Amino acid sequence: MPAPTPFRPRDSRAARSAVVVGGGIGGLACALALRRAGLTVQVLEQARKLREVGAGLQLTPNATRILRDLGVLPRLEAVAVAPRSLDVRDGRSGATITRAHYGPAASRYGAPFLVVHRADLQNLLAEAAREAGAVIALGTELAAVESAFGGVRAVAKQGDKLIAHGADILVGADGVRSAVRAHLGLAVPPVFARRLAYRATVPVPAKHPPDVRLYLGRDAHLVVYPVKGGALLNIVAIVKETVPVARWNAPGDSAAVHQAFAAWAPEVRRLLESAPHFLCWGLYDIDPLPRWGSGRVTLLGDAAHAMLPFLAQGAAQAIEDAAALATAICSGGDAASALRAYEGARHGRTARIQSEARRNGMVYHLSGPPRLARDLVLRSSGAALLDRYGWIYGA
Ligand code: FAD
Repeated sequence: MPAPTPFRPRDSRAARSAVVVGGGIGGLACALALRRAGLTVQVLEQARKLREVGAGLQLTPNATRILRDLGVLPRLEAVAVAPRSLDVRDGRSGATITRAHYGPAASRYGAPFLVVHRADLQNLLAEAAREAGAVIALGTELAAVESAFGGVRAVAKQGDKLIAHGADILVGADGVRSAVRAHLGLAVPPVFARRLAYRATVPVPAKHPPDVRLYLGRDAHLVVYPVKGGALLNIVAIVKETVPVARWNAPGDSAAVHQAFAAWAPEVRRLLESAPHFLCWGLYDIDPLPRWGSGRVTLLGDAAHAMLPFLAQGAAQAIEDAAALATAICSGGDAASALRAYEGARHGRTARIQSEARRNGMVYHLSGPPRLARDLVLRSSGAALLDRYGWIYGA
C-alpha cells in the first residue's frame, strides 16, 4: 500500500497526541485517522487479544468511502464480499417482496456496499494503524481519567500495575457501556430494545446467491449474507424478548431460536438448522446524549451514540466519527475547541440515525394490516429501496 500523505494540524495549540480508549472498530479507525493527521496515538484495549465476535458486518458507502480515504479499501475488498442485491422476503412463505441491486446504488454513492467478517475488518484496521505508527496496548483497562497540566491522562490497569498514559486529547471509544462516558458524568443507562440477536455462521448452501437476504415476520426477522470472501454465510436472527436481559455475547439457546422460527419458510428453517451453535446478544441503544465531551475528552462510536442494528450503521457511524475527528483537529484551533467542533458536526446526524434505527426495528416486525401496508410500500419502491437512505449513504 503506498504511504498516504498525512494531513497535519497547522495550529501550534492543536492536539499533537491522543489516547484512544477501546480497540474496537471505532477505536482502531480513529487511531488510523489520527495517525494520518500527524498525531501520536496510543490505543488502550482491555482485551488481551483483539477478537471481534459476532461474525458479520454490512458496510455501506458512507463507511467504505472513508475506508478508501484511509487507504484500507483494497485490503478490505480482498476479504469482503460485494453482494449482488438486497432481497427482502416474507419470512413465512419465503417469497421475495422486493429486491434492489447494490451495483447501480454503489455507482450513485461513489463507493461499494460490502459485507465482511468483523474479525477481518478489525484485524486489517489494527494492522494499518500499527503500520501508520499507532501503539496498541492490549490487556490495558481504563481505571480513571485525570486532567494533567496542558493535557489529559488515562490511568489504566495492566496486570497488577496502574500505568498513566498522558496525551493532549482522550477519545472514549469504549462501547455502549463506556467508562469514559461515566467519567464525563453522562450516566445514561443503555436502553433494552426488547430484542435478542442470535448470531451464527454456517457453510454456504449450494446455489445460494451472493445476496443480503432480509426475511421479515411477526415479532422476528432474519438477515443472511456471505462473509469470509463468500466461504461462509452469516446469520442474524432477531426475536422479541420482553424481559430485560444482561446477556452480551453469551452462548445462545438453539432450541429458543428454532421455536421462534418453527413456522417460517423451509429455507429459513434449513439455514437455522445448519448452525452448530448461536451466540446471543441483548440489543441495547442509548438516547442521544446532551453532550459528548468536556475539555480534552470526547466520545466516539457506540460510547457516544450506541444504536440498534436495524439500519446496519453502528460501525459505519463510528468510522464516520473517526474521519470527522481527524478533520476537526486538522481544521485549526486549540485541542478542546476541535473536539467541540467534531461533536457539533456529528451529533445531529447520529441522533437521527439512532431514531430511524429504532423505527425500523418496529417496521420489520409488523403483523396484520400494517404489515400488508408495509409490504405494498416495499413492493412499489423496488430498485429505489436503497435510495430511501441516500441521506445516510451519500453523505
Ligand atoms: P465496541 O465494538 O463495543 O468496542 C469497544 C472496545 O472498547 C472493546 O474492544 C472493549 O473491549 C473496549 N473497552 C471497553 N471498556 C474498556 C476499558 N475500560 N478499558 C479499555 N478498553 C475498553 N454496524 C454496522 O455498521 N453494520 C452492521 O451490519 C451491524 N450489524 C450489527 C448487528 C448486531 C446484532 C449488533 C449488535 C450490532 C451491529 N452493528 C452493525 C453495530 C456495530 O457492531 C457497533 O456499532 C460497533 O461495533 C461499535 O464499535 P465501537 O468500536 O464503538 O464499540
